[in-house]
Amino acid sequence: MAVHRPARIPAARRGGAGGGVEHVDVVVVGGGSAGSVVAGRLVEAGASSVLVLEAGGPVHPWDVEVRMPLGMYRAVGDARYDWKYVGEEEPWLFRRRINHPRGKALGGSSAINGMLYQRGHAADYDGWAAMTGDPSWDYSHLVPYFQRVEAATARSAGPTRGRGGAHVLTQDPAAGPLHEAFFAAARQAGHPVSSDPNEVQDGVGRFEKAQSHGRRTTAADAYLTKHLGGQRSGRGRSPLRVQCHALVTRVVVEGGRAVGVRYRVSDGRSAGPEREVRAGEVVLAAGAFATPQLMLLSGIGPRDELEAAGVEVVHHLPGVGRDLQDHLGAFVQHRSSRPVGANGIKGRPQLLSAAARWLALGSGPGASTHIEAGGFLRTTPDALAPDATVFFSSLVWPVAGMPVVEGHGYQLYAYPGRVTSRGSVTLRSTDPAAAPVIRNNYLSTDSDRQAWVRVLRTVRELLSQPAFEPFDGGEVVPGTHVVTDEEILSFVQRTARTGLHPTSTARMGVDDAAVLDPATLGVHGLPGLRVVDASAIPLMPNGNSYAPVMVLAEKAADLISGAAAPAPVRVPEAARAVPGSLPLLPDGRLADVPADAADGPPGVSGGSLAS
Ligand SMILES: Cc1cc2nc3c(=O)[nH]c(=O)nc-3n(C[C@H](O)[C@H](O)[C@H](O)COP(=O)(O)OP(=O)(O)OC[C@H]3O[C@@H](n4cnc5c(N)ncnc54)[C@H](O)[C@@H]3O)c2cc1C
Repeated sequence: MAVHRPARIPAARRGGAGGGVEHVDVVVVGGGSAGSVVAGRLVEAGASSVLVLEAGGPVHPWDVEVRMPLGMYRAVGDARYDWKYVGEEEPWLFRRRINHPRGKALGGSSAINGMLYQRGHAADYDGWAAMTGDPSWDYSHLVPYFQRVEAATARSAGPTRGRGGAHVLTQDPAAGPLHEAFFAAARQAGHPVSSDPNEVQDGVGRFEKAQSHGRRTTAADAYLTKHLGGQRSGRGRSPLRVQCHALVTRVVVEGGRAVGVRYRVSDGRSAGPEREVRAGEVVLAAGAFATPQLMLLSGIGPRDELEAAGVEVVHHLPGVGRDLQDHLGAFVQHRSSRPVGANGIKGRPQLLSAAARWLALGSGPGASTHIEAGGFLRTTPDALAPDATVFFSSLVWPVAGMPVVEGHGYQLYAYPGRVTSRGSVTLRSTDPAAAPVIRNNYLSTDSDRQAWVRVLRTVRELLSQPAFEPFDGGEVVPGTHVVTDEEILSFVQRTARTGLHPTSTARMGVDDAAVLDPATLGVHGLPGLRVVDASAIPLMPNGNSYAPVMVLAEKAADLISGAAAPAPVRVPEAARAVPGSLPLLPDGRLADVPADAADGPPGVSGGSLAS
């Protein structure tokens, strides 16, 4: 285990305003998923003043779109809760511009996400340790932190799972004939069916969600709310203060140290005057797009880029905004020959009735996103670990530009788990309210294009098993005319969308492009500033990104408070790939992927498969 230099929480210099400048122990920028964990845990560790500055608003119990799981399909794209970022033209996706939802609310993306909780494979974290040269980021060392996140309620939860952690996790029922067919088909196709895919991430199973009694639980609900009593009632002094509608505009650096931030509090009509807060520690937790943007706005980043944008260089750090990773997801959809799916709830009267039932009883179709089963598949027999993630559902929404599944249907949404394409986040403007420039360069590497073809073939193989025969009304998307590798790739290029997991734009590591010290999550060469959110992740796991962000934030809280690290936990052999065998990228590479890598200029067709 690496030895971490404990960072003592300095005593609060003074609460409240002093000459217009407030002083706190720790200011956390972004009350999202990671920000909620860090702030809540630091209060529990004895910090005497923690200020969370969140650009979005609070989430109320009556915000049905957020609280009701089915409401997710409305919360995403609603400017009250979503930043609604839009990427640049993607050269390998026929120059399509991809929408990038991100939560803008207390709880951040956990207020609009699919609530799916997926730890990721042991080998993913062993990859983090290998990349950073810091064994304390390997899976065994992180399991105790996962346990702090998890209050797993499923009886089938495995022995390394947490039951007393902060987040109640509820296992989906995944019941009914189509789910039964899905599990049977997975077995027929040779994939294991797992009783707890978070214990052993291999094969498919019932999903776990960050929801309780049919309601979404955000990271803020799980980590912050309990510390806000004083602030809410005005009685007593809580060490935690949360300021919503506060857009942080820059990090203040003096004498080579981050000493605070500037921010504006909006009243809904205007942005308000700029204020300053001074802090012993500044923690950036604004997410994989806004954190690098804020660093760049503060003059922390690649010198050339800052100079070109007209920003004074405060700290040259070439990796800021580089190495953007994301999953790229697409659908295979079938018509169902029997009326057994969830499509029956899509009509307006049915949705209203689902909402009414949910409001009255907390149950019924409103209490689910209807993405209740799926898991982790190998797309080649020789894969060391599962290399694709799939999501089964009988609630089938149209895919733009493709034929629509009429009546009932079922689908697998899928993505290759470990991608080698790298993108970037850069400044569009020095206005902190302007969205940054997001370039993903999806499918820009040959290995990613090959991986997608394998994923689609694997998904089709699963859906064509005998278990689905009683229901199969034919493949609608992409359609049986899509056969060759080139046709499959073209379908993906035309229809794929973000997997919603941007990471690594200020990643930890010890190489020249690394931004954070893995031992502290402090910014290399700039004391007083840390990054704790999806930006810090060195390599995106095969699986969704919420649990990885939460585990990173749990560990970060220990690093900041100086608490001793918990002892590593022995991991079941079945959870490992081949013990000690790394790396796991499809082409065998781990860390040598150049930023913005592309195998060559895309042709008119938008790209090709190397032979
Ligand atoms: C629609 C959607 C569905 C998803 N589904 C799943 C899923 O089912 N399972 C899963 O594992 N993952 C899912 N994800 C991904 C997962 O939710 C994210 O990876 C994770 O929540 C990111 O956490 P974070 O702390 O890095 O950022 P966030 O949780 O996004 O938090 C960042 C916070 O910073 C705030 N902020 C930004 N800029 C500023 C500023 N300048 N000043 C002040 N505050 C600022 C934001 O408003 C936000 O609250 C989904 C994501 C989305 C968007």
